[in-house]
Amino acid sequence: MRYMKCVFLAAATLVFAATAVRAEPTIIDHVTLIDGTGRAPKPDMAVVIDGGKFTLVGPSVLAKGLAGQRIDATGKYLIPGLFDVHIHLAGFSRGKGKEWAPGGKTGDKWVVDRKAGEQALASYLYAGVTTVLDVGNIPENILPLRADERAGKILSPHIFATGNLVTYPGSHGTDIAVNVSSWPEAEAQLQAQFDSQHPDVQKITYDDEGWGSRPLIPILPRDLLEHIIRFYNLHGVRTTVHVSNESRALEAIYSGVDTLAHTPIQGPVTDAFVRMAAAKQIPMATTMMIGDNYTRLHEHPEYLDQPLYVATMDPAERARLKKLIADGKETALANSKPLYQRSWRMWMKTQTPILQDNLRRIDEAGGVIATGTDGSNGAGEQRELELLAEAGVPPLHIIRAATYNGARFIGRQETMGSIEEGKDADLVLLAADPLADINNAKSILMVMKDGAIIDESKLDLAGGMQKRRME
Ligand SMILES: [Zn+2]
Repeated sequence: MRYMKCVFLAAATLVFAATAVRAEPTIIDHVTLIDGTGRAPKPDMAVVIDGGKFTLVGPSVLAKGLAGQRIDATGKYLIPGLFDVHIHLAGFSRGKGKEWAPGGKTGDKWVVDRKAGEQALASYLYAGVTTVLDVGNIPENILPLRADERAGKILSPHIFATGNLVTYPGSHGTDIAVNVSSWPEAEAQLQAQFDSQHPDVQKITYDDEGWGSRPLIPILPRDLLEHIIRFYNLHGVRTTVHVSNESRALEAIYSGVDTLAHTPIQGPVTDAFVRMAAAKQIPMATTMMIGDNYTRLHEHPEYLDQPLYVATMDPAERARLKKLIADGKETALANSKPLYQRSWRMWMKTQTPILQDNLRRIDEAGGVIATGTDGSNGAGEQRELELLAEAGVPPLHIIRAATYNGARFIGRQETMGSIEEGKDADLVLLAADPLADINNAKSILMVMKDGAIIDESKLDLAGGMQKRRME
């Protein structure tokens, strides 16, 4: 009886608390709206946010007289929260002094650094990214963070994750993968991964590599690839695949994969591939930042002084990188042999413009490109936008690639990815027009996730405490 009474009282308190803390609606009015769908911008719009959703999106006159917290956004620009659909969140590494062995397990233990993971997540919010898809990590790093994000325990973008990826023994990503070699033997392994990790999207790797200075490595047999895709789809999970060339991309697509974790980079894609991309509407991640970064650091180390990097990187790490370049000791940057590193850098310098042109052609034809960096810092997403602009993709399409197309990639376009009534209230308020210059996507005044304004001063950023950007 006494126990019952306690439960009743506790329940009553909860209801009361929920009512008491329920925030009043937020009204952003007189704003120029770029809704993320690719539609033309609309001036003098009002966006009302209530209960974490957009409840009204229309001309400012419709919100006249509505009660709530009002933000006069005259002269400002509103875009949906950005998506990075290809990250590997920091916070996992091998024990100190252990060398990474390409294509094989070293037997070393993984070490989880929770703070590094949380700081990386904070960097995304600071840079305007409200949703990330982690496409390969160790479960011990990413899954507890995903659980804490969903429980509202940490300041973080929405986290979607694959946990372990799936591949063939010795193939790409083998050391963070469930390694499968035959069917039906693999089914129990996949079931165990599904039951314990609950992947939101399952990443598979399908690449024999052998490009640039990389060795040839084993690859999943195609019938096994198809079984894996079918397994996850039958469990309600979308799939994505690491590929790097057109022929493997086509094989993966015709084995049933739902998205490409990279757009082909190894050469200009054929016109037929571009037509297929438009016809099939398969979302393809852009992932230029990772390759661009090989030469960017050497040729333009001053980028490390841009405000987003200053805020989101450890000052000691920025200083170390700049000193290595200044001293001409950049070969110490990678955990690989100097010759390997130099050749790989030169190779990536030739490949990135090819990838840029492939993305421009696919977008122009009506295909679905979605921003992904293959990195672990929000500033990298803004670099991805710059590289799309450099490729010749129109800014309106870049915003769509970074928002609505990201939601399509994850399969959440019904509830996320654009500023439309009924959708999750994830947004970025900008001081300047990103359609005039994509660099204005960095003029961030305010980031909102699920209807809550992010207080920058509460973000645990590697660059130290930052001020709120809008009072
Ligand atoms: Zn990756």
